[in-house]
Amino acid sequence: MTTVTPMMAQYLDIKQAHADALLFYRMGDFYEMFFDDAVAAAEALDIALTKRGKHEGEDIPMCGVPVHAAEGYLLTLIRKGFRVAVCEQMESPAEAKKRGSKSVVRRDVVRLVTPGTLTEDALLEARRHNFLVAYAVVRSGAALAWADISTGAFHVMPVSRERLSPELARLAPSELLVVDEPVFQQLRPLADDHRIPLTPLGKASFDSMAAEKRLCELYKVGSLEGFGNFSRAELSAMGALIDYLEITQKGKLPLLQPPLQDAEDRLMQIDAATRRNLELTRSLSGERFGSLLSVIDRTVTPGGARLLEQRIASPSRNLDVIHGRLAAIDFSIENASLAGELRAALRKAPDLDRALSRLALDRGGPRDLAAIRNGLVQAAAIADLCDGLDLPTLVATATADLRGFDDLLSLLDAALVAEPPLLTRDGGFIAAGYDPELDDARELRDKGRGVIAGFQQKYIDHTGIASLKIKHNNVLGYFIETTATHAARMLNPPLSETYIHRQTTANQVRFTTVELSELETRILNAGNLALDIEKRLYSSLSGAVLNQAARLNLAARGLAELDLATALSDLARGENWCRPTVDQSRSFLIEGGRHPVVEHALRRQGGDPFVANDCDLSAEKGAAIRLLTGPNMAGKSTYLRQNALIALLAQMGSYVPADRAHIGVVSQLFSRVGASDDLARGRSTFMVEMVETAAILNQADERAMVILDEIGRGTATYDGLSIAWATLEHLHAANRCRALFATHYHELTALAGTLDGVENATVAVREWEGEVIFLHEVRKGAADRSYGVQVAQLAGLPPSVVARARAVLDQLEKSEREGGKQKALIDDLPLFSAAPPPPPAPKTSAADTMLKDIHPDELTPRQALEMLYKLKEAV
Ligand code: ADP
Repeated sequence: MTTVTPMMAQYLDIKQAHADALLFYRMGDFYEMFFDDAVAAAEALDIALTKRGKHEGEDIPMCGVPVHAAEGYLLTLIRKGFRVAVCEQMESPAEAKKRGSKSVVRRDVVRLVTPGTLTEDALLEARRHNFLVAYAVVRSGAALAWADISTGAFHVMPVSRERLSPELARLAPSELLVVDEPVFQQLRPLADDHRIPLTPLGKASFDSMAAEKRLCELYKVGSLEGFGNFSRAELSAMGALIDYLEITQKGKLPLLQPPLQDAEDRLMQIDAATRRNLELTRSLSGERFGSLLSVIDRTVTPGGARLLEQRIASPSRNLDVIHGRLAAIDFSIENASLAGELRAALRKAPDLDRALSRLALDRGGPRDLAAIRNGLVQAAAIADLCDGLDLPTLVATATADLRGFDDLLSLLDAALVAEPPLLTRDGGFIAAGYDPELDDARELRDKGRGVIAGFQQKYIDHTGIASLKIKHNNVLGYFIETTATHAARMLNPPLSETYIHRQTTANQVRFTTVELSELETRILNAGNLALDIEKRLYSSLSGAVLNQAARLNLAARGLAELDLATALSDLARGENWCRPTVDQSRSFLIEGGRHPVVEHALRRQGGDPFVANDCDLSAEKGAAIRLLTGPNMAGKSTYLRQNALIALLAQMGSYVPADRAHIGVVSQLFSRVGASDDLARGRSTFMVEMVETAAILNQADERAMVILDEIGRGTATYDGLSIAWATLEHLHAANRCRALFATHYHELTALAGTLDGVENATVAVREWEGEVIFLHEVRKGAADRSYGVQVAQLAGLPPSVVARARAVLDQLEKSEREGGKQKALIDDLPLFSAAPPPPPAPKTSAADTMLKDIHPDELTPRQALEMLYKLKEAV
């Protein structure tokens, strides 16, 4: 048996208990990692891998990060999907020595850092929620519970199997907790699809009886009835979440607000594909830039920004809620100058929620106390601004929640300096005059320093050495320093009786005196005393803040609501948006509608302005479907999406980018795009398209709004046409919903004549000297032709190819007119296969091979252009 050092034994012990995490093992000023952890971390962090000692005859790989820079490294590791167990020294080396000369410093894991349990500002995105979600299944049903421990938000709701994916898409969790087996395996594909890290927990964590107990203990209540009536599955999910927090926070529980029960039918349902497609909070390439959120976000506080993201993700179906939010925007539009003042005050308000949660987890510092103070100053100012006004309910509630903190505010005001340091251990954050004992200790400390400064002159006079200095370092404390040349006199009597030699360096000799060391001790004691007093005061201030945690959370919520209402009013005025009418009818009437993101992009490019378009999908009963035809690049997709976005914005309680909008509440929003626009997803795209279309046809109800863009184009022409045809009929007869259907199958336009409620529309273009000009105007009627050749020409196809295509097209159209057998589908005429055969080449060239692989019908103009560049390179 090989012997292990006591330290290694301790390491292995702790590591065993945290096998699924990287162990950050504290050694002095570093967190060290060993063995496989070291190898993985060195690679992930791009830091040097070294070794230290041997274990079972092999070198032990090791790497480390300095404690003061640990947050940055933690962030990288968490982003790369690791979990980190932070193991601290629980005593000083001196204390360990007292227990025995061979004792290792006691160490313990104080916290497990996982993506869903972050609280540090450096690790979090200020303007986004960070949800930890638990999914529980019990025989009678399933439920989701979610919490953001950095803000204290806590929710729960029942969820059916079909709704799981959409709800996860809405919440975008940072981490999902599920019971070990078999649910863990079952959920894997879904979690992978949504890119959610999945954490398995044992059955005991999900026990619903234990959950009830945990919740009662957490909220210090005898029964949960006051919070609502929870199902077994809901209890199980909430219990697992709390259990996991206990495990990761090592017993220190974050502040969680009482759980709010959500219901599936409270919100407009939007599934994952639709969210992606409409680019609500992320663009198709995954960034915030280019998303709806990025162009409408005018919030000035992190809390307001988080609320906006929430609202976009969860538009309401409840008319009272929607009208309440709209009334707050009306108010702030009517009182523009007040709104301006409110926004100026909000801009100065720090993130109350997150400061509070750090204090609760004992991870805070003086700056968090100052954040609460500064937040409350602004809260009071904001409440005063609204004083005596006739406020709409939402604003009245929000401002009421901002009041009542006078005592806490004056306490913090008196106790704290204006700009305190980050860490408690630095001291200096309690204001002078707040605590007499602290003032005394500080005076002694500071006076002592002054006295020591005076000693220098005294010792110069005494020794006659003019270059003598008094200095300070951490090893010796205060000392007297002279050059080696002068030192001889001090090392000999009579001066050596007063000056005690401490240290000789290359050029200097250092001394102390009894007087100096005594004073130093007094200064040190006074300094330590002052620091102790400050730490004690910090705890009591922090306690005073936490006593009001629940109300402070409400105040933070109030600030966020006001921020959002004024931000949306600012947007509405600046962008000329209108107040939508939302009611229980089945109207969908938009006048002068615009796509906010495309409009924004066009403006930035400084080109032609966005062309506004109307849309009427109203139907008292039955379906209302518009079948949209028009060439590529005309603006079909833009038009489809803009109407979906207008519905969504209206129901999240915002004004909308239109001149007028009347919308009967939409229960579900669906958006699908034909396969070839979706190649990035890397699966059999036609299959994906069909799975997603199936989901709509199976789920859409009479209140649904569906937009389908080029459905069926991922397969052969006749297949695609038939599928599009049957889909349209099903939407009409079975789903009976409101739908916009863009297609390049002109054959479908005939359906408008036979199906009630189906009408044709087209995006107008003008042809001028053989070129096509896009007008981006949506009009009644079907497109006369598809202008594919003209668009191809715009994309830069060589003139000879364009000319040839025109000739083939004429031929095909002629034979169709003459009733020939060639009943060609104009759009699907393959451009290249109709070209004259190329002159025989001695060998197949690279260009030939590339040409063979091209399927012109599946190329977007842009891809066609790129292909042409490649072809040109190849010849
Ligand atoms: P389609 O789906 O018909 O191929 P898109 O909706 O993708 O066309 O629009 C192509 C481009 O046309 C957009 O990127 C945008 O720049 C421009 N566009 C679309 N609609 C409008 C409009 N209403 N006003 C101005 N430009 C528009």
